[in-house]
Amino acid sequence: REAAILFGGCMLLAMIGAAIMFPTDSVVAYPFMGGIGLAVGVLNTLLVSSLAEERRVALMLAGVDALSGVANRRTFFDRASQEAERAKRYRRPLAIASFDLDSFKQVNDTFGHAAGDAAIRATATAVAGQLRRLDTLARIGGDVFAVLMPETDPTSAGQVSERLRRAVAATVIAAGEATFSVRATFGVTEFDSERDTIESALARADKALYRGKEEGRDRVVAF
Ligand code: GH3
Ligand code: MG
Repeated sequence: REAAILFGGCMLLAMIGAAIMFPTDSVVAYPFMGGIGLAVGVLNTLLVSSLAEERRVALMLAGVDALSGVANRRTFFDRASQEAERAKRYRRPLAIASFDLDSFKQVNDTFGHAAGDAAIRATATAVAGQLRRLDTLARIGGDVFAVLMPETDPTSAGQVSERLRRAVAATVIAAGEATFSVRATFGVTEFDSERDTIESALARADKALYRGKEEGRDRVVAF
């Protein structure tokens, strides 16, 4: 993207330079050069947006969320169903947490959508840095993430979630001149291999999360 912008900028400067160095009385020369400049600009914009779209599709096919760089929703459910199978067969503990950024609409309204995007990226990086290699962090909705924690009992899952909550709150996001931080509310639950599907366990984690929202946000609730 930077290369394309640089190329467009160089072409524009070359046009202006040519116009200064080779002045002409021809009435068609400047409109002609302007036309070429415009065409290059349009082609450049099309190139940049098609490259961005290509990158987005490639990442999606690879199971990665393009904005945050963590797993996407599909990857989460793929891995979760594998882990559910394993937990059931070997009677191993499996925990699931979900979290949702607090009052995030207000963050967008105050600092702008680009700053909101930066906050989503910074949150994903901060949380991923706190997890084990075995765990999966995924962005499963706009400002909603899920964490799959194999081999994790309910007590540990609560402790991990609390550590993640603190990591989110401690992350400083820069938006132009301003700096800010965001908070998140967590719901956490144990996968019950006798009764649960991934969907039912995630629904319970979400229920805990919404209880946390009702109770005042920026907290961990376990169901
Ligand atoms: P709550 O504490 O109840 O979660 O309040 P909230 O304002 O965060 O409300 P909610 O979770 O329902 O809305 C999420 C908002 O997040 C909606 C939208 O403005 C914003 N959002 C969703 N996806 C993106 C995104 O990709 N980028 C940015 N910048 N904002 C997003
Ligand atoms: Mg939210």
